[in-house]
Amino acid sequence: MFDIDRAVDENMEGLVRDIKRLVAHYSVQGEPLPGKPFGEGPAAAIAEAQKIAGELGFETKNYDNYALTAQMGSGDGLVGIIGHLDVVPVGEGWKHDPFAGEISDGILWGRGVTDDKGPSLAALYAMKIVRDSGYPVNKRVRFLFGANEETGMNGVAHYREIEGEFDCGFTPDASFPLIFGEKGNYNARFIGKTSAEDARVGIKYFTGGMAANVVCDSVSLYAEVNEYCDELRHDFIAFARKNGMGYMIREDEDDLVLTLRGISAHASTPELGRNAISWMMRFVSGESLLSCPFAEGYDKVIGLSYLGENCGVAISDEYGPLTFNVGIIGTNMDGTYATIDIRYPITTEDFGVYSERMKKLFAEAGLELTETRIGPSLFIDPESPLVRKLYEAYVKGTGDTVNRPVTIGGGTYAKSFKNVVAFGPEFPGMEYNIHMNDEFMPLETLRTALKTYVYAIMALLEV
Ligand SMILES: [Zn+2]
Repeated sequence: MFDIDRAVDENMEGLVRDIKRLVAHYSVQGEPLPGKPFGEGPAAAIAEAQKIAGELGFETKNYDNYALTAQMGSGDGLVGIIGHLDVVPVGEGWKHDPFAGEISDGILWGRGVTDDKGPSLAALYAMKIVRDSGYPVNKRVRFLFGANEETGMNGVAHYREIEGEFDCGFTPDASFPLIFGEKGNYNARFIGKTSAEDARVGIKYFTGGMAANVVCDSVSLYAEVNEYCDELRHDFIAFARKNGMGYMIREDEDDLVLTLRGISAHASTPELGRNAISWMMRFVSGESLLSCPFAEGYDKVIGLSYLGENCGVAISDEYGPLTFNVGIIGTNMDGTYATIDIRYPITTEDFGVYSERMKKLFAEAGLELTETRIGPSLFIDPESPLVRKLYEAYVKGTGDTVNRPVTIGGGTYAKSFKNVVAFGPEFPGMEYNIHMNDEFMPLETLRTALKTYVYAIMALLEV
């Protein structure tokens, strides 16, 4: 009789040792080199993962250092498990060595231990446990390591061009219990005139925001200095105070700089933030000393809404509404521009019609919408065999019957394939310092993930 707990316990040591081997490689995307499309680090991590998978007895194949596969079993069916070997950069100020895989108080520390080297190897070891248990592996089970997830999805895209789809699968790169829907992405920029000639105070430029996918928390307006500046400053202070917003004013010979502060948040949860750009545009468009066609158009088609109500895209389904974020503003030779990051509802079939509608409304407001890019949404029927089987595996592996499968506004590798969902290993409500200093993975969580993935692989062999 197969004793899963025993098999899991026997494999924990090897699993932790091999995670450390991967964590030692700083696999952040670098300059492309011949045969190494994402640079030295990701290629080194692929080489190490290939060694590890070989030692575990899997057939491996390197796809030009874009991706790596490790496979077991035979048969027509093909189950996919998809993780990634690249990481985000390491900032200053870690308490634990980001590359040593230190363990203290039952916690493993290091860049990539949770995102996504640890979970990837947990799933790879789960394949090994299933194979060694004697369970009939009557399909091919293929682990696909991508080398470029954090900065694109180009690693697995390269693989898919060559090998195509999986019958079904999961990606251990998000949260338990399971994610059966991910909103679609829509990105664009828009541009308009910075300052009209008849303005009493001319605007030189705007600057603000860190990234398109973050709610902007600080924006600055650089204006020319003239006799109206005292009045403008006075109006700005009154506006900021009335709306309870932080502000800063600086003036030198050349520039009057007005800075407005908001609250940052992820673009998929804009309700948690307060967009400084939208509020600055409200101030500018209502200020008679200024004349800014960009701000006036902005206030008309976007205003203070993060639901897209004023530009014809306020759609929603039973899993949640569209979210609309402006992340970056700037001014260049062509005028003032800003970025749009929309997450549209998971059951939306074609966002193209909404893009066209926006283009028209923006144009009527004197703004040009450009560089539009539509990324797909993901929706796998929660009643499908894939979702039901994986959820059952989760319940078996964890004993948790309270948390249910969910949908998210973000995006995972699941979107790169037709019948794949994100499945663990993070637990709802827990933080693992992903993308931050001192990323960590409790060994207990790793063990639970390993066990759950064993059940999951067995279940998918039956789907
Ligand atoms: Zn990840």
